[in-house]
Amino acid sequence: MTANLLDFDLDGLAAFCERFGEKRFRATQLFRWIHQKGAAEFDEMSDLAKSLREKLKTNAEITALPVLSEHISSDGTIKWLFDVGGGNAIETVFIPEEDRGTLCVSSQAGCAVACRFCSTGHQGFSRNLTVAEIISQLWFAEHFLRKHFGQSDRVISNVVMMGMGEPLQNYSALVPALRVMLDDHAYGLSRRRVTVSTSGVVPMIDRLGQDCPVALAVSLHASNDALRDELVPLNKKYPIDELMQACKRYLEVAPRDFVTFEYCMLNGVNDTPVHADELVKLVHSHRTQRAWCKFNLIPFNPFPASGLTRSSVATTAAFAKILNESGIVTTIRKTRGDDIDAACGQLVGDVRDRTDFHNRLSRRRVITISEENRPTTVGKEGTVDDC
Ligand code: SAH
Ligand code: SF4
Repeated sequence: MTANLLDFDLDGLAAFCERFGEKRFRATQLFRWIHQKGAAEFDEMSDLAKSLREKLKTNAEITALPVLSEHISSDGTIKWLFDVGGGNAIETVFIPEEDRGTLCVSSQAGCAVACRFCSTGHQGFSRNLTVAEIISQLWFAEHFLRKHFGQSDRVISNVVMMGMGEPLQNYSALVPALRVMLDDHAYGLSRRRVTVSTSGVVPMIDRLGQDCPVALAVSLHASNDALRDELVPLNKKYPIDELMQACKRYLEVAPRDFVTFEYCMLNGVNDTPVHADELVKLVHSHRTQRAWCKFNLIPFNPFPASGLTRSSVATTAAFAKILNESGIVTTIRKTRGDDIDAACGQLVGDVRDRTDFHNRLSRRRVITISEENRPTTVGKEGTVDDC
């Protein structure tokens, strides 16, 4: 069986090359061709010996996910839909800004956490993505964008694991993928500019801190356990206090000195001054010597099945004011890519314009996982990494 080289971090590629009697520096050369130059053909790799290229041609491939569609928003945001087989699709979004280019990357096809306000969650869970499928999103986007902008140097400066799926429930693929993103021989991204966003898988926050600390965002969305149990069902397993403690442990090893709490503003549900006051108390009860968190208020992106609506601009501003005045730095997220359904929580892997694929998608195997029978197998298809 041929190996897809997008599946390997540098150590993995070195181990693979060793099987052919090749030294580590050859693996490094190969790694640079793949990730820095975007090579997909071994014949392009002019400084590798012909004999090695021949061995690679029989034993390896560089295969990215097939693109099903591409949409470009009026604000420059680009959304790609990738085919991950079995009738599943995932989405990746590029968000250009003055001083940075951010790629929002998916980690799973669907999601088992089933948050009430998230369309990915409503879709159910299909499977974990492999390392190659996660990295393929960055590999494709970076090299596509360089051509698109006629640029030879790096376009993507930031990666946020905020696409479809819960990255900490696909831990075994997430960590090697993060290592590729950070590796100077690949994308060379700063740890401070790679963000893992989680709904709060507490034990995995600790493991991430040990194995590969990057910036951390936590999807909080509620100021007390009763409400969070409703909105983010994982809270029943890892309640707010445990989550706060895990965040503070993470900060001891994190590349940034704060955790970002994401808070989706849901009209009449979690957006009143009482909720804001409760959040202030919560943050202050976990006070350290200095400010340890920031809040990012996300305007809810509605979809019919949620039965929820977006808080008004005035309500959101008033909520932010209460937090800011109590000393908690709070920003309101600008919604990007609205016109192409690329905003937070709108990613569903939907393939409306491809009838045949849509039919297959509707037959997709969706496993709905209840809290009681959540599987604990690590990294297998159709299960989530959890503990
Ligand atoms: N599973 C991870 C990362 C993917 S979701 C997590 O939950 O953190 C990325 C962000 O989008 C999360 O903060 C999530 O709460 C938010 N989000 C989900 N659905 C949304 C919606 N409909 N409107 C606005 N934000 C949403
Ligand atoms: Fe999953 Fe995140 Fe959506 Fe919750 S918000 S269902 S954890 S993708």
